[in-house]
Amino acid sequence: YMESDVSVPEYPILEHEVELEVVRYRKAVTLAVDDLIILRDQNPDTEDHSFLDSHILMLQDPDFQEKIGNRLDRIRKNVEFVLLEEINELVEKLNTLQDLYLRERALDLRDVSKRVLDHLMCREKTSLAQLKSEVILVCSNLMPSDAVAMNKKLVKAIAMDTGGRTTHTAILARSYEIPAVLGIQSATREIRGGDWLIVDGSSGVVIVNPDPEVLETYQRKQADYLRNLDDLVNLRSLPGKTRDGKLILLKSNIETPEEFLSSLTHGADGIGLYRSEFLFIQDGMDVLEETQYEAYTMVLKGMAGRPVTIRTLDLGGDKLTRDMHNAPKEANPILGWRAIRFCLSHREMFKTQLRALLRASIHGDLRIMFPLVSGTGEIDEIYKLLDEVRKELKSQGIPFKAEIPVGTMIEVPSAAMVSDHLAKKVDFFSIGTNDLIQYTLAVDRGNEKIAHLFLPYHPGVLRLVKLVVDNAHKQGITVAMCGEMAADPAAAVLLLGLGLDEFSMSPLGLPRIKKIIRELNFEEAQKVALKALEMSNPEEIERYLKSYLRGYFNDDSFIF
Ligand code: PEP
Ligand code: MG
Repeated sequence: YMESDVSVPEYPILEHEVELEVVRYRKAVTLAVDDLIILRDQNPDTEDHSFLDSHILMLQDPDFQEKIGNRLDRIRKNVEFVLLEEINELVEKLNTLQDLYLRERALDLRDVSKRVLDHLMCREKTSLAQLKSEVILVCSNLMPSDAVAMNKKLVKAIAMDTGGRTTHTAILARSYEIPAVLGIQSATREIRGGDWLIVDGSSGVVIVNPDPEVLETYQRKQADYLRNLDDLVNLRSLPGKTRDGKLILLKSNIETPEEFLSSLTHGADGIGLYRSEFLFIQDGMDVLEETQYEAYTMVLKGMAGRPVTIRTLDLGGDKLTRDMHNAPKEANPILGWRAIRFCLSHREMFKTQLRALLRASIHGDLRIMFPLVSGTGEIDEIYKLLDEVRKELKSQGIPFKAEIPVGTMIEVPSAAMVSDHLAKKVDFFSIGTNDLIQYTLAVDRGNEKIAHLFLPYHPGVLRLVKLVVDNAHKQGITVAMCGEMAADPAAAVLLLGLGLDEFSMSPLGLPRIKKIIRELNFEEAQKVALKALEMSNPEEIERYLKSYLRGYFNDDSFIF
């Protein structure tokens, strides 16, 4: 596994096992020293030599080895845990010192101990792109950039300490159709290499070393799930129309251009959100205009005339390119330099993307959408740049479509509040609930400790959604939802009743929502939505919506 923070297993050992742990430790140190010697020999820079030599000395320090032995005797726990405790104590001591040189040695200590820990836990330094066999990935924090690079065929499931349902790693796993459970907190501590695992992404459960009956139950559940999916996919060519004839467009969210294919096989009416930033997360920030043009063209041509909404770069927050990983950290990246803010201060890069988009527009029904807009000022600025790009293309004789609908995401509460003004400036809205909920409730969508506070059914969120829909319709523009809430079966009746025109979600989730919409009645859904809006308690709202849905489907796989 790959992770940014060190997380180690913790388990008690018996008296006679202390010696075995010492042997394990010595072996790991020898291997770590070997790594460093190889590194030194491969590296001609002599300054690096002295730094590598100092790491080797640290590893071989007999005093430190003795300390590890003593602590093993004293607390009788596995040596990974003992080593980490010893290092933490040392680092803490160093950090209290005035001497900058000594404080910096704390970093070296961490670095060196990580090498030993990697060997102790048999972690291979190979990247997830070079896996040799099928694995379940157990990790502390898999970044979206790691997920993009991993071998998706061999990663069969993911269990992760941090994050939640709307973290980008979860969103990616969904689009790769890899079962994943995030926010478990103790996965890396409790699970060891060689354990058998069941990862049930539907209900968010991970079972370690299941007994045969449990295994059999889950094998049956898996087969049912796959059969159910097959049945649902048969709805592919039917419209998302309610019983009383209201047509809802059901589109898909994609992260890579090739996903247009699974969008089609799952019956999408178009692409409602192409997260273009993943092109950059893979390749770094200087993606050529040509590469972008090809990616956008592939989706437009693939969707054969169906609408395709491409969102401009939404980098920042947890979506970092390789180059951005090395930049100084912001104190509040989620409230920081991301998405449209980042683009408006990287104008050349942004204009390159706009050029590529305009050029691709001739290949299909393109719509352009902007992320994290907070008010009308940003739209005005964007329009200026779009005009510049149009003029440049015209003067160069490069063709592009004259009328390209331009829309904005509504995912910042202020944008929802001023959606009446925004509706006069753009051609469509798409509500991004992942961020809208995060910012409305002040709950970091990636923080597992407060995941229970991330409440899509909070009346504060629902009121904003209603306001946005009403303001859009007053102005005669359409409003979609492309956050994960759009794929939540229980939310379908509410969102339908509130008047959303389009739902956009991962291809995998689409057929189920289509089936639900086709069972519902728009007029009745409006009443349900009004009733839900009167309730003050998010749990009560959720319960009410679920029990409503149970009236139509007694099969629980539609309701969770
Ligand atoms: C959202 O915020 O709901 C959204 C769809 O955008 P992303 O998940 O990419 O932030
Ligand atoms: Mg968002």
